[in-house]
Amino acid sequence: MARVTRTVIVKSVKLPRKVFRVFVELEGMYHNIVEQLVLYAVRNNVKGFTRLKALKYREMRNLHPQLPSHYVYTACQDASTRVKSFLRLKKLGLAERDYPVVRRISIWLDDHLWKPNGLTSIRIATHKGWVTVELEPHKQYWRYANRGWKLASEAKVKLDKGNRQLIIYLTFVKEVEEFKPRGYLSVDVNENNATVLVDGIAYLFKTNMEKLVLGYYYRRKSIQERYDKLYGKKSRIKRKIMRRLKEGMKKQDIRWKLANIIVRTAYEKRYAIVLEKLDKKPAQNMIKRVRDKQLRHRIFQTSFRGIQRAIEEKAREYGVPVTYINPRNTSRLCPIHSAPIIYDNGSRIGKCSRGGEIWHRDVVACWNILFKALRGDGSIAPSSVGLNVDGSSVPLGSTATNEPIRIPKSLWARWKSLPPIQYATVLNKMKR
Ligand SMILES: [Zn+2]
Repeated sequence: MARVTRTVIVKSVKLPRKVFRVFVELEGMYHNIVEQLVLYAVRNNVKGFTRLKALKYREMRNLHPQLPSHYVYTACQDASTRVKSFLRLKKLGLAERDYPVVRRISIWLDDHLWKPNGLTSIRIATHKGWVTVELEPHKQYWRYANRGWKLASEAKVKLDKGNRQLIIYLTFVKEVEEFKPRGYLSVDVNENNATVLVDGIAYLFKTNMEKLVLGYYYRRKSIQERYDKLYGKKSRIKRKIMRRLKEGMKKQDIRWKLANIIVRTAYEKRYAIVLEKLDKKPAQNMIKRVRDKQLRHRIFQTSFRGIQRAIEEKAREYGVPVTYINPRNTSRLCPIHSAPIIYDNGSRIGKCSRGGEIWHRDVVACWNILFKALRGDGSIAPSSVGLNVDGSSVPLGSTATNEPIRIPKSLWARWKSLPPIQYATVLNKMKR
């Protein structure tokens, strides 16, 4: 059993002035407590939440006796998280000041400080007693609420002072059991596509990640240079613009869509997902525009890892097992003959040096990833999956399978999982 959590942000309705003022006061007191705790903890090098609480609980309690006592607990947790991350930055020489500044505040709530009140409102404990707050639930909220997710006891609240609304960070939790896989779905990710092998058919999802990732990288760099010159290296305005850029990047984020299709397909078929263990993959086929090979490698490894992480997270939610294999030689050797495949410079189509058959590089990788998983070159022991492991004949007999079915982004971006094979095949024929 694995515990899967998701944070969902819900706004309250616009609150009456009088009610909102209670929360402004509450935030003020909470802010004050956190600020004092942070200063104390840094000055005395207290990192743990328990110790901080033991040392300061009484004092903070006396400071704001009208506040429900659990706010001191959650403020201690809040403060100790801030102190830990500050000390980490300081160790790296990245802290701007000697003490962390408590600028943005969200009020941490535990199960004593808030309670759900049906599905469309919550109650929050304040210095003026319990206050009921109506929510503005949205589609995503209902999806979690209606599909077996439970609300966790912890929550956070931020104040939107302009609109007199509360922004509530709820955590939904689900216990998921991993299923026993009946087979494998192997995935190969590279700069411009992700290829997935299901039941002997390879699907190539075009992602055009190369353009996206490099474009983002250059834009980031140019902002950095420009603002460093104007405002110095640590300017807040630079950070703000960087954050906005990141958000823009997220919006066109294709990772989640791709992860969704892959995981749902594996879930429907009760297959485990096989991925390459990253890191060790040598910097192959990554040259061109970024001249510095190492840099280029690093940029892409980061984005591959992003896709893998999205797959892993979705898989946990669905109870789909994920296994890893060593990426060595996955696109270099023929899956049938174990002989090198000769690719003419830069081409993704190659010829087996022994059998002479033609291969698409990403399809080769997918088959080899699958075979490695079946051989147990991963973390899950292989089960009988009804495929001919040692060999040659069954799935790889026909050359038709050596070519992937290409799916443009404009098409798959609207999919929820893989459509039936016939449909995809017809589609591919039409394209050619
Ligand atoms: Zn061969």
